Amino acid sequence: MADGIHVLPYGKQWIDDDDVQSVVRVLRSVFLTTGPEVEAFEQDLCRATGARHAVAVANGTAALHCAYGALGVQAGDEVITSPLTFSATSNMVLAVGARPVFVDVLPDTLCIDPRAVAAAITSKTKVIAPVDFAGQPAAIDELRALAKPRGIHLVEDAAHSIGSHDRGRLVGSLADLTTFSFHPVKTITTGEGGAITTDDDALATRLRDFRNHGLVRDPARLEHSGGPWYYEVQWLGFNYRLSALQCALGRSQLTKLDRFVARRRAIVTQYRDALASAELRFIDERPGVESAWHLCAVRVSAAKRHAFFEGLVRSRIMPQVHYITVPEFPLYRGLGYDPAETPIAHEASRELVSLPLYPALSDTDVERVIAAVRAVLAELR
Ligand SMILES: *Cc1c(COP(=O)(O)O)cnc(C)c1O
Repeated sequence: MADGIHVLPYGKQWIDDDDVQSVVRVLRSVFLTTGPEVEAFEQDLCRATGARHAVAVANGTAALHCAYGALGVQAGDEVITSPLTFSATSNMVLAVGARPVFVDVLPDTLCIDPRAVAAAITSKTKVIAPVDFAGQPAAIDELRALAKPRGIHLVEDAAHSIGSHDRGRLVGSLADLTTFSFHPVKTITTGEGGAITTDDDALATRLRDFRNHGLVRDPARLEHSGGPWYYEVQWLGFNYRLSALQCALGRSQLTKLDRFVARRRAIVTQYRDALASAELRFIDERPGVESAWHLCAVRVSAAKRHAFFEGLVRSRIMPQVHYITVPEFPLYRGLGYDPAETPIAHEASRELVSLPLYPALSDTDVERVIAAVRAVLAELR
């Protein structure tokens, strides 16, 4: 900036020399996509999430498409999900021809309310798809108790929550399928990237097929036989592969996950200690949860939110709003959705502001954000 004060965005990546070196190493190797680096990243992801299988894909949106696709979600099915999310969660439900059903969130965690989910279940419900808002795992145990006896699947959108724990269990091992994003603002990055984890062998195979054109080479699975070149496209899939270059970056980033999470948690604690008040409300961490905090989403009164946001921008702080609720968008209104049907999410979306939160934020930066927030709030009083 002309005044020499650097801009603090709401999120950004951390890249070290060893991250760069790992990408260069693969760039000089035989396989630029598929091959050993992809498998190694998937194994590292299994270790980081406690899951049996991890399938690396092109981005978090592709991960959701693969998850719904592998479960065979289709026209006539319903997927219960959160309105307070990035639109990809429900857009991919539309992509497979099914209908998203939005239910309201809990006021303290802003994750879907199991009681609202129970009330929304119908004979058409195929999937419950909670979103781990800001990094905190949704109430998976309660949701599983609703889903399992009815044969409904759980797909957890964990784009915010790699490295989070719920009563000692890692996110990635809680739901039937868990989807991750490695976009640069997320906790670890591969530039663009994503993954799905599962403990189910058959689902893992379907995810791998879906990622690769629905193409099957395994002789044991072929319907017909042919020469050594022979393969079959057995169902509809896409090219959602993640390159080996990106997997190398992902492996290097995963070695720093614990450090990233610890730094994120420390920054949120600093903000909370300095700023939490009736004027600026923080999201509660449920007992037993350790959130990796992808976002530091705070709430100000809806009447002041716009001025609060602009006040921070004047101090070279670039906050963001997570999220405008999905039913508010023209696409969804056009499909008959009404944001007023999920009033707690709707009210939250008019109050939320995400403060800068990323491991590269220095103590001085954190102090700068705290001082700016205090000054803007005082101006608005
Ligand atoms: C980022 C994000 C996605 C999509 O991930 P991409 O990698 O950007 O495709 C999906 N859901 C949520 C909640 C996200 O935050």
